[in-house]
Formats: sequence, C-alpha cells, structure tokens
Amino acid sequence: MPDLPALVDVAVSRTAATCTLTWADGLKQPVALADLRRLCPCATCNEQREQRQGNALMVISGPLPSAELDSLEPVGGYAVRFHWADGHDTGIYSFGFLRELCEQAQRR
Ligand SMILES: [Zn+2]
Repeated sequence: MPDLPALVDVAVSRTAATCTLTWADGLKQPVALADLRRLCPCATCNEQREQRQGNALMVISGPLPSAELDSLEPVGGYAVRFHWADGHDTGIYSFGFLRELCEQAQRR
C-alpha cells in the first residue's frame, strides 16, 4: 500500500470501549475494541474464525473473547500490538489493516 498515510495517534477509551485512530491525512476514526478483538489477525484467531464458519454450533456456544484492553505497543513502525486483558497478545495489527477498519467504520 504505497500511499498509506502515517498513523499519528492511537487513543483508547475504556469507558467508550473504543480505540480512536488518527491518521496523517486527517482521518480520525473510533473503532470498537470488540471489533478489533473479533478481527484479531493472529494465526490462532484466524483458525478459530474458520472453524466457526464451518460449525454453526460454535457460534452459539463459544465464549466471546475479552474486548478489554490492557495496553498496546508499536511494532517496528508498521503495526500495533494489542495486549488484551485475558492475556491474548499475539495479534499484530498492521497500519494497512487498521486503516481499512477505519475506512469501513466511517462508511457505516
Ligand atoms: Zn488473536
């Protein structure tokens, strides 16, 4: 993604349960923490999502993953790593992925 604007600020609101991302081109978009967790791009979550799609029962019986955020850290200037309260921290959210989430949220 050659013309991806830089991510200049990430502000987490625990009361609103959102993460507001500010981009260099002026886009400022809150994204629900629940959405971020649901879309966790790590291998484990990818696998679980695939299993859920193939098994309707898992959708009903599976516990919802925690959408409570402990902390986040920048990863190598290209991504953000979210540390969830239940200890899950393997999801590396690239700026491109986050930008797409913001643009989707904005269109809603
Ligand atoms: Zn994950």
